[in-house]
Amino acid sequence: MRLRNVRGSKEEIETNEYVIHNPEQHKGKWKEVFGNDNPLHIEIGMGKGKFICQLATENPDINYLGIEKYSSVLIRGIEKRKDLELSNLFFLCLDAETVNNVFDKGEVERIYLNFSDPWPKDRHARRRLTSKEFLSRYKGFLKEEGEIIFKTDNRLLFDFSLEEAENAGWALVNHTYDLHNSEYVTGNVMTEYEEKFSGLGNPIHRMVIKQK
Ligand code: SAM
Repeated sequence: MRLRNVRGSKEEIETNEYVIHNPEQHKGKWKEVFGNDNPLHIEIGMGKGKFICQLATENPDINYLGIEKYSSVLIRGIEKRKDLELSNLFFLCLDAETVNNVFDKGEVERIYLNFSDPWPKDRHARRRLTSKEFLSRYKGFLKEEGEIIFKTDNRLLFDFSLEEAENAGWALVNHTYDLHNSEYVTGNVMTEYEEKFSGLGNPIHRMVIKQK
């Protein structure tokens, strides 16, 4: 994603009421933040937040945390959230490399990864959010029966992700190379990137994996 620096976004994020500051302090205690026992779903690399804002609106009985590394991008999600009457959605401005500091064993029921950066060079493979290194991090906090749902239009990244998941001992629940023309399209919520790339005619790939 090409990043434009949004002036004041860092300062805004530091004080914004929808952003959880020092999220490490809530490790193992996210239920207290939301004030209920509802399941916790997270999106890593949420971008401008369309997807997670829509999910949170449609599913008031699920708690959502949107994670984004860059304040200049997250600020757009905050703007969207301001117009919504929601108590089940907060944001973290965080590099996913440190996500294990924030969630405890079994605390998260679902992880969404949408149009994650492909990092095309082999030497950067470990930075891909579906690399074995990241999958191992997720095991540290995903519920045993929880799942990861990954969407992309990037075939190379998708095939890499299928392979990494298999090699790392995850079970493939289902997958499709053309989500919008598949049985799994019902209830699909489009992300910003999904709208853009499916609009260009790119098929959208999606896989669901869980721990064996
Ligand atoms: N998920 C959105 C969508 O589908 O429209 C945005 C996709 S964009 C290609 C990838 C997003 O992931 C960017 O906003 C980027 O800043 C964020 N991102 C990349 N690496 C990250 C990391 N290590 N931790 C948190 N966010 C990350």
